[in-house]
Amino acid sequence: MADQPKRTFVFDFDSTLTQVEAFEELAEISLKNDPDREKKIRRIAEITDQGVDGDITFTESLMMRLKILEAREEHLDLLVKRLNRKISTSIARNKEFFKQYAADIYIVSCGFKEFIDPIMAKYGIPPERIFANTFRFDRKGHIVGFDRDNDLAKPDGKIEQLRKMDLPGEIHVIGDGFSDYQMRAAGIAHKFYAFTENVSRSNILDKADHVTPSLDEFLYKNKLPGAISFPKNRIKVLLLENIHPDAEAMLRDEGYTVETAPKALNEDELVKAIKGVHVLGIRSKTKVTAKAIAAADKLMAVGAFCIGTNQIDLDACTKAGVAVFNAPFSNTRSVVELVIGEMIMLMRGTVAKSNAMHVGKWDKSASDSNEIRGKKLGIIGYGNIGSQLSVLAEGLGMTVYYYDVEEKLALGNARKMASLKDLLRRCDVVTLHVDGRAENKGIIGDREFKMMKDGAVFINLSRGHVVDIAALRKHLGSGKLRGAAVDVFPKEPGSNSDPFESPLIGMPNVILTPHVGGSTIEAQENIASYVPESLVSYINTGNTNNSVNLPQVRSTEMKGAHRLLHIHANVPGILARINSIFSKYDINILGQSLKTNETIGYLVTDIDKKYNKDVMRELKEIGHTVKLRVLY
Ligand code: NAD
Repeated sequence: MADQPKRTFVFDFDSTLTQVEAFEELAEISLKNDPDREKKIRRIAEITDQGVDGDITFTESLMMRLKILEAREEHLDLLVKRLNRKISTSIARNKEFFKQYAADIYIVSCGFKEFIDPIMAKYGIPPERIFANTFRFDRKGHIVGFDRDNDLAKPDGKIEQLRKMDLPGEIHVIGDGFSDYQMRAAGIAHKFYAFTENVSRSNILDKADHVTPSLDEFLYKNKLPGAISFPKNRIKVLLLENIHPDAEAMLRDEGYTVETAPKALNEDELVKAIKGVHVLGIRSKTKVTAKAIAAADKLMAVGAFCIGTNQIDLDACTKAGVAVFNAPFSNTRSVVELVIGEMIMLMRGTVAKSNAMHVGKWDKSASDSNEIRGKKLGIIGYGNIGSQLSVLAEGLGMTVYYYDVEEKLALGNARKMASLKDLLRRCDVVTLHVDGRAENKGIIGDREFKMMKDGAVFINLSRGHVVDIAALRKHLGSGKLRGAAVDVFPKEPGSNSDPFESPLIGMPNVILTPHVGGSTIEAQENIASYVPESLVSYINTGNTNNSVNLPQVRSTEMKGAHRLLHIHANVPGILARINSIFSKYDINILGQSLKTNETIGYLVTDIDKKYNKDVMRELKEIGHTVKLRVLY
């Protein structure tokens, strides 16, 4: 760049340009058939760390390791092959940078030219700009030592080496070890970047001018051309409400910067906390209001680590082009298992028998006690839960009937019923799995209970308002129903400290559970992996397939393309305007996908040419543009 001073970049090799320490790899090769191999490799790693951390002199560490290694010349070819496969991910990604800036790049390493030179040749760095040690071999090709006159074989060798090189311009050192920092401390280098992609050494982090978790960050910070538009470590994720640690780990592993807080935030707290945040993770307690969304300056996505999204102002998110993701199906299996368990308990009268025993009554009899095998199960609502229950219930030998207001494909041998009435009249067990739409209020009341078979079992783990509880009590009391299991209620306590009230309390053969149908450790774990996967897929590829509010575009990894993500108000003519800009700049479109909903349109375009600032400016200036993001 014209306005930048001349800069020279000095890279370390081991654990910076490669993911590993070369000597440990060499040991894997040279000690392949040694019975003490594992022990020796561990010892080499220890000595390497002691040397890198400055606990022993480098010369000592080198001698000690070479002795253990017993390596030969022929091992070096294999080593180069192995190291080529273990180039640091962000280095490999940015090969172009090395080629383009080769004249300004030097490697100063306490490793060995015998393996560094061939590896870096592929990155356009010639041997004369690689400063490292050289091996000494005996006549049989055994590595027996190294050139002791080389500065890099001596204590503080990098300082001396760099001093002699007398490089032009500002010298920027990028490395993971103490010896890299020492060049800056000695005043010969101008900046030291602690490279932490492979190892993070605490003794250099606070001394570094900048900690760079990848080369992408280094390039971004220094306004150098990079392979990706925005370093992942700059994506800030805020996870509230004690979200499962697996989710945090997944997002960290992806390279994002994650902050966590144990509690829910109120609106004012969220308005403050949301500034600078790209991804917000909540559970059910934090309300994401329009005011919070308006205060968000960077927000791309909200992850609801739960089933529902009532706590989020979806309209406000949609208008602001913020994608919302949740985990609607993560607890399906948990609900199904509880229904099956309850069916069995109710058909056997187990609850009444257990209650009697707790007050000292022994009532051993087989009357009113049935297997579920061969019984008719009626499922009302054949969605995610209903249909999965259908499969498992058949596995237990039940005959399954279902009724749904929508056309649903029957799984296994399940039979579709033309009306609710048909289902109610036919089944021994009736279970509700409808959704919470307002029209479903009271769909099961006095009339429907009367239609059921005498001695039927009734189960509701769907929504509280769909059943008339007074009618249920009446038909349980009269003996029309043999028993019931209820997990959801028209009025549920706001918290565990509020009392539970219901006309069903105290009724025999009625299982009451506090809305825990989907509450299992497994469901929590499913949520903790499902939501981060959706978030990562959206951030990295623009995929909105699982989004609650953005139009759904299923986009995959990009190959050799730049991807532009354009979110706009859904008004006519936007696509034409965008494409006219591409054609004006002679940009070839490789793939394009537009999806709209009532409020917004989401356009994903893959292009084959490097866009420039003018293209971006013009795209942003199109009226009704909500957000524009580039991935490359
Ligand atoms: P879903 O949306 O996949 O399925 C609901 C099905 O019900 C749909 O096929 C729909 O067409 C059908 N339906 C709606 N109204 C109907 C009616 N009046 N008659 C017949 N069919 C009707 O939902 P899902 O994921 O299977 O969940 C089902 C219910 O379970 C939801 O109400 C959900 O809130 C509830 N749920 C409860 C718990 C719990 O802890 N107890 C956990 C998870 C889900």
